[in-house]
Formats: sequence, structure tokens, C-alpha cells
Amino acid sequence: MRTITLIIVHCSANRAGSALRLADIDRYHRSLGWKGCGYHYVIPTDGTIETGRTEAEVGAHCKKHNRHSIGICYIGGMSADGKPADTRTDAQRTSLRKLLEALHRKYPRALIVGHRDLDPQKDCPCFNAVSEYADLQPH
Ligand SMILES: [Zn+2]
Repeated sequence: MRTITLIIVHCSANRAGSALRLADIDRYHRSLGWKGCGYHYVIPTDGTIETGRTEAEVGAHCKKHNRHSIGICYIGGMSADGKPADTRTDAQRTSLRKLLEALHRKYPRALIVGHRDLDPQKDCPCFNAVSEYADLQPH
């Protein structure tokens, strides 16, 4: 079993309303020579929680932090004019919270962060995950 110290939230950097799903990301990541979707979970705009890698597997989503983390990606993160934006639909917000609640129960010592909290060069996931999920942080 891996030791999970971080749950990292990402956006896919697609424009609001993108119909992308896990299968598309899986295809794209395979085209890069990876062994399938780099995230553990993907949440398309309809709020489905799609499973990519198993939690036992190391992901490929955040340089230097993959070994000890779980990666979740919601589809979106860009406004219609291509700027970083929190484009989560109500269904995505609901599912993301539900998933994080379950992961928090399973990994109570893991910090929930956004990709940008680990790499200041990034806007991803275009909202403040640390404060939004303050109630699910280790205490
Ligand atoms: Zn990211």
C-alpha cells in the first residue's frame, strides 16, 4: 500500500462546456507514451466520477509528487476566451466534494491541495482547493 500524503486537484485546461471524458485523456496520455490516464479520477461536466488508475498505482499528474498522491482532474478550467477560470458545473462541484469526502475518510492524514499550490507556475485547478475543502483537511 502506498502512503498517501497529498490529494491533488487538477483541471484539464479545457474551455467551459468541453465534452471531454476520461477515455479522451486516456487516449491522449497513451499517445505521450504513458501507461494510460495519469489521473486516478476524472470528473467530466456531467459530474460522473470516472476511475483512471487504481489508488494503489502511482499516477502521472504532478512532477515530484506522484509517488505519494492521488490525482483528481475535473474537465474544464478555461473560460470561453481561453483564460484560467473555475468552470466547474454544479454536478462537478457536488461530485468533487463527495469524492474528496470519501478520500478524506480513507486517507485522513492527506492534505487536499490544488496543483498550483505545489507548482506556482500553474493556475490549475483555477480555484483555491485548500480553503474550499478546509473542513476536509487533516486535524
Ligand atoms: Zn494540474
